[in-house]
Amino acid sequence: MAEADSTDFPIAIIGAGFAGIGAAVQLINTGIHSFTIFERASEIGGTWRDNTYPGCACDVPSHVYSFSFEQNPNWSRRFATSWEIQEYLLGVVDKHGLRDRMKLNTEIVEARFDEATGTWTLTTDGGDAFTARVVLAGVGGLVDPSHPDIEGMKAFEGDMFHTARWNHDVDLTDKRVALIGTGASAVQVVPSIAATVSSLTVFQRTPAWVVPKLDRIYPTRLRRFLTRFPFFLRASRFMKYWLSEVLGPIVFLDSPVLSKIGSHISMWNLGQQVRDPELREKLTPNFQFGGKRVLVSDDYWASFERENVELVTNPITGIERTGIRTSDGTLHEADAIVLATGFKLGLASAPFRVIGRGGRTLDDAWKQGAVAYKGMTVAGFPNWFIMMGPNTGPGHTSVLVYTEAQISHALRAIKKIMAENLKCMDVRQEVQDQYNDSIQKRMKRMVWSDCKSWYISEDGINHSLYPGFAAEYVLRTRKLHPQDYEITHF
Ligand SMILES: Cc1cc2nc3c(=O)[nH]c(=O)nc-3n(C[C@H](O)[C@H](O)[C@H](O)COP(=O)(O)OP(=O)(O)OC[C@H]3O[C@@H](n4cnc5c(N)ncnc54)[C@H](O)[C@@H]3O)c2cc1C
Repeated sequence: MAEADSTDFPIAIIGAGFAGIGAAVQLINTGIHSFTIFERASEIGGTWRDNTYPGCACDVPSHVYSFSFEQNPNWSRRFATSWEIQEYLLGVVDKHGLRDRMKLNTEIVEARFDEATGTWTLTTDGGDAFTARVVLAGVGGLVDPSHPDIEGMKAFEGDMFHTARWNHDVDLTDKRVALIGTGASAVQVVPSIAATVSSLTVFQRTPAWVVPKLDRIYPTRLRRFLTRFPFFLRASRFMKYWLSEVLGPIVFLDSPVLSKIGSHISMWNLGQQVRDPELREKLTPNFQFGGKRVLVSDDYWASFERENVELVTNPITGIERTGIRTSDGTLHEADAIVLATGFKLGLASAPFRVIGRGGRTLDDAWKQGAVAYKGMTVAGFPNWFIMMGPNTGPGHTSVLVYTEAQISHALRAIKKIMAENLKCMDVRQEVQDQYNDSIQKRMKRMVWSDCKSWYISEDGINHSLYPGFAAEYVLRTRKLHPQDYEITHF
């Protein structure tokens, strides 16, 4: 196959998070330079640009939560903070000179496929049009904050902001803070601000299973050692990755025995951090371990033992001028409200108007829920590759293992399209359907199928997670099977 660098083969990458940046680097590594990255924000980074709340960090060890082709011996701790991950991404961008190929502050608002020319026309929010032979969509799954719809929200006179849009102009020191939510962001924020605020009231709808994080600082001598002997860095990555896979079934399989192992570990963690039996009771989940995202923290639960931290389990009935009212009639006064309420799940609908073959929109194709072949290609939308698409999220290991597999798969397709001068590669509808039937059949054996969580879309189907091991997904996507695609020549 030709390693062509063709300027008449424009490729569009949408999004400059891990997926978009990784795709760009791998295109360059393959000898393909004819791409443009479109990013709606004023800086790269995606998740790690937007989430700057106190305590924000990855919850998969950094030696695994980084690109395999850009390993970093200098992580300052086992679970790097968001700013350190953002620095890492900025470093990757600079190292590969990606800035020259990037259009920041440029949102793609529409994409339309032209069957006659085999090209996509992308329209930006500024009204410009860009033509691409192939599109790599890396627009992320956890991008747009989900704001709760609580009566009276507008009446609140203090500061109110979402964790993903942390307002650094507001100093919470010695303030009365109310925090809504007890998910992945909350477990990081709560212990990070508990000691400095005057009071912290946490509103919990559902308690989460939390397992020990075992975070630690990496001393300088270890970092020097890993820099000098990269073999050990690779070995560390290898071991941490395989450990996550080996332990994965505890988190994702619907097995009473495995779930019990998980819940025992979590209950032990709770027992270590909380002595008050009544508080422990309130913090204990009443659903199967793994049913919702399992959280990791060494100090979240312990925060509730502090005198200035209160856990409220009565449902919120409204927000008023001076605070939050709960169903028991109590008004919890606050100077600031932090919304740790997660994200709008971008998988159930198209991120913007995408018009494929025959004028069919992606929203229309996904009206029964978002589906794609191997999470990447959708019938009727040729030469369009999604990264972090439907059913490609992990519950137990790094997203990047999947993202890298998707990038490699798209690269194989791009090389084929270029080498054979193909007009379209469009996944066959029956191949896509068969694949998704098998995914949903397997889903029934997963622990997520019975619990209500953000993993499950409005149609009651899990369109988010991959029901199995990451290694298996990688193997499944390792080869491009031309027979799975309807191929059109010029
Ligand atoms: C707080 C937090 C912590 C996390 N921790 C972990 C972790 O520990 N381990 C893990 O595996 N995963 C974690 N994740 C998941 C994380 O989102 C992924 O790991 C990864 O960062 C996703 O990268 P991405 O490039 O696919 O998407 P994103 O990082 O979301 O990037 C998408 C980019 O696309 C841009 N964009 C969107 N729409 C358009 C458009 N129409 N036009 C132009 N640009 C557009 C966005 O502005 C954004 O920059 C975490 C997520 C959050 C929110």
